[in-house]
Amino acid sequence: MEQVFAPLPPVPDHPRLEEEILQWWEDEQVFQQLRDKNRGGPKFRFMDGPITANAPAGVHHGLGRTLKDVFQRYKALRGHDLRYQNGFDSQGLHVEVQVEKGLGLNSKREIEEYGIGEFARRCREFVAHFARIQTEQSKRLGMWMDWENSYFTFSDTNIEYIWRFLKNVHDRGWLYMGHRSTQWCPRCGTSLSKHEQAGDENYEELEHPSLFVRFPLVEREGEALLVWTTTPWTLPANVAAAVKPDAQYGRSENGDWVSVDVFPDGDYVERLRGEDLVGLHYRAPFDDLPAQEGVEHRVIPWDDVALDEGTGIVHIAPGAGAEDFELSRLHGLAVLAPIDESGRFLPGYGEFEGRTTDAVAEPVLEWLHEHELLVEAGTIRHRYPVCWRCRTPLVFRVVDDWFISAAEIRQLMLDGNDEVAWQPSQYKKRMDDWLRNMGDWNISRRRYFGLPLPFYPCHCGRLNVIGSRAELDERAVSGLEQLEELHRPWIDAVTIRCEDCSAEVTRIEEVGDAWLDAGIVDFSTLGWQNPEWVPEGNATGAARGVTHADLPDHAYWEEWFPADWVSEGRAQIRLWFYSQCFMAMALVGRQPYQSVLTYENLLDETGREMHKSWGNAIELNEALDRMGADVMRWLYCEQNPSQELRFGYSLADDVKRRLLTFWNSVSFFVTYANIAGFDPAKPAGELRPLDGWLTSRTSAFVSEATASYERYWTPGVVDAFERFVDDLSNWYIRRSRRRFWDGDETALRVLWEALRTSLQVIAPVMPFLAEQLWRNLVPKEKSVFLEGWPKPGEIDETLNAEVAAVRQVVELGRQARAASRLKLRQPLRRVVVAGADGARSHADEIAEELRVKQVEFGDVEASELRVKPNLPLLGPKLGAALRDVREALARGEFDELDGGRFRVGEHELSPDEVLVERTGKEGWAVASADGVTVALDTGLNPELELEALVLDLIHQINAMRKEQGLELTDRIRIKLPAAQRELLRHEDWIKRETLAVEIEIDGASAEPRIAKA
Ligand SMILES: [Zn+2]
Ligand SMILES: [Zn+2]
Repeated sequence: MEQVFAPLPPVPDHPRLEEEILQWWEDEQVFQQLRDKNRGGPKFRFMDGPITANAPAGVHHGLGRTLKDVFQRYKALRGHDLRYQNGFDSQGLHVEVQVEKGLGLNSKREIEEYGIGEFARRCREFVAHFARIQTEQSKRLGMWMDWENSYFTFSDTNIEYIWRFLKNVHDRGWLYMGHRSTQWCPRCGTSLSKHEQAGDENYEELEHPSLFVRFPLVEREGEALLVWTTTPWTLPANVAAAVKPDAQYGRSENGDWVSVDVFPDGDYVERLRGEDLVGLHYRAPFDDLPAQEGVEHRVIPWDDVALDEGTGIVHIAPGAGAEDFELSRLHGLAVLAPIDESGRFLPGYGEFEGRTTDAVAEPVLEWLHEHELLVEAGTIRHRYPVCWRCRTPLVFRVVDDWFISAAEIRQLMLDGNDEVAWQPSQYKKRMDDWLRNMGDWNISRRRYFGLPLPFYPCHCGRLNVIGSRAELDERAVSGLEQLEELHRPWIDAVTIRCEDCSAEVTRIEEVGDAWLDAGIVDFSTLGWQNPEWVPEGNATGAARGVTHADLPDHAYWEEWFPADWVSEGRAQIRLWFYSQCFMAMALVGRQPYQSVLTYENLLDETGREMHKSWGNAIELNEALDRMGADVMRWLYCEQNPSQELRFGYSLADDVKRRLLTFWNSVSFFVTYANIAGFDPAKPAGELRPLDGWLTSRTSAFVSEATASYERYWTPGVVDAFERFVDDLSNWYIRRSRRRFWDGDETALRVLWEALRTSLQVIAPVMPFLAEQLWRNLVPKEKSVFLEGWPKPGEIDETLNAEVAAVRQVVELGRQARAASRLKLRQPLRRVVVAGADGARSHADEIAEELRVKQVEFGDVEASELRVKPNLPLLGPKLGAALRDVREALARGEFDELDGGRFRVGEHELSPDEVLVERTGKEGWAVASADGVTVALDTGLNPELELEALVLDLIHQINAMRKEQGLELTDRIRIKLPAAQRELLRHEDWIKRETLAVEIEIDGASAEPRIAKA
């Protein structure tokens, strides 16, 4: 027999099949062919948000990469021309901290001793290394990108474009240096911006001291303010105590003042309003430190004093807290900044000098204790901010940072966001909220391997900002000859001439926020304002040798800006989506992207975060090896992106099981097509109604899935596919089995077309399996990805709805059977169906499927209806009336209305407010759902019982055929024990169903036997 199609193994070996396909794609240059085919087609402008090249990609990256690939593949199938440029985020804290760890460096001092130049080279090598690894991983996941031409944010070209942006905002007066209290990482030795730190993940449950401390009052001898602090290290920098002016304060017998609201049960000998305490002076615990010399300590008013914790009196240290600093400006308080960059105490703080904030907690405590200022000491567990990069608990420091004002751009960005189509749509509001509340952009970091801020302040007062490499060359006084790339330390050695006074000025040491690097890529990779196309023009500076990316010309930018679509995780709202928008609005006043797909975080399969230390983290490579890329992609795609997504091996097993239905359908086709010598080139014969239905159903699937792809909604695609496969397998194939056994060419043709089309539609989601099956079903060695998108044929909505109704009736009939414990092979007398009018013209199919002799449509009187209140919903709605309604329902005193509603007395109950149960009366089995009821008459007679025995026998014989390894077409002879003689009344039926040519009674055997004829 000619085998046109390769027989399939019982289950697919996903990882092996994927390796084969990858090789085949490579050999046939399929991706290149696709790009060539689509060149000049309508553009699909996707801009890739750069992935940080500081570690191998994780399974959470797999999610984002999959979604990008799915929609790029979809758009390519539809003939769109795409750029396919991948991006790597390659400088800034992400990279530095990992390199430090690798080199065993623990502080900025150690980096400087190691050498900033060497450090920069290590950072570059490190990024190149992980970019290679991530590239290989992404390819294995099936991601099609132009990997040779990835962009790297550390290229000189990217840096220059950011310089241009900074000069632009400086020219507009938005750039300024702020003297502020900011969150500071003592390990990284830099301030951090609000957008970096804003995420929930940047807080940890930590244990800290909890101290109640006395501040003795000067004007009221023997009395003291009682304050509470969880940061003992800030006490040496105390300058004030704040009270709420309109709150009540009370003094206990021992002289301590506290808020009456906080301690309502206290015994107070005197009460005052907060405003009466304002202006009093007190002696702070560490008055005698040199740093405290001349500082006046007094009580100040503050409306925001919390009255739900502490004592209602707040210790204020403006050099060590954000709100404290604001209050110092309002009240002219001294600002004592106690710690340096690395979080160690400065000179002027006595025995604390040189010690860390943690290390001084103990001596502070002892000192307070000795001086009888400590009222109570304990510990507290609370959520505390930690460095987003290195997890060190943060402190506040007052420093000079560079900011870009958000005042003028805020409204522009809000207007821009108004035009963006967000998926899921609720994230649009999140973006709005972020934009409304965003502060000025803190862009400076006191680090090494990052964007060098091109700021050259002069003592004359002029801030020189360099906007390009050419400008730097022109204005440089010295240092150009050693400038191998625009990073530190080389850039630091270049001095320039001040524009105003011609003095020689040097660059500030700070580098930039990494989100400047990522935010500029809409300009730096697309060649904005670049007069001539520069080959490898993005392979500059640190990026030389790691990519071949060109710098296009301005005409190209015009074609490819703005992006039609971007897609990243939800955290990027305050990061990349924000910085990208900020920079585009500043430079060209336009929104850089028109639609967004965003998604929540990935958790393990039980809903916990994945952590290496918890043992539940899964490596991307391990998942690729164990479950395969298609299964991973399926898992990512089937879940709703607005909820946290689950990932794990048992979920993968479930996906594999479900995909098997499709695999088996293809396998079924292959088996019978080979037997029949099916030729795809031959046109179909006359279609039967069921064939017409599958054709129409396939068209409906194409149009449903297309609509979901168009709105970037993978759960819709996956759901449409699964429902389609269920219909194809459990209805079309099941109902047409006999035709396949008979080699019916029309059935084979119709099934072949449906499978072929479904492969095209699902290929973006599971490219490997689709390609593999496509190559088998369409034997002309061309990729499914070069085939284009299927055009949906005509959809017969009426027919589709009818079959859907039939399938529902059959499903309910099976449920009723299962509930009655009648076996499926027991034929029954009749079924009564209510509420599925669409199924009326398909009575024969229902009879066959449910194995009943007669199908009636009409009211089901065979059932009893029981209605109970759905308490969680009805309780709140009915209140006291619930009891009467419940009792009336129990007595059966209700009317059934249409649409599943019920009336009880004057109350009308909607379908979700009641729990409905239909049970069969004696002799009936009933099931119902969604307004359809199916009742099976369970009464049997000898004839029905005999038929059941015949069906049992047929089943048994066919199982034996399989066990004995007979071909599907082999004929057999059957020997039956004498006890089964009565079954011969159905001899023809048995022969037909088992391909038997002869049935004999054999008195000697106790069991049926078969032999090949
Ligand atoms: Zn840090
Ligand atoms: Zn000057």
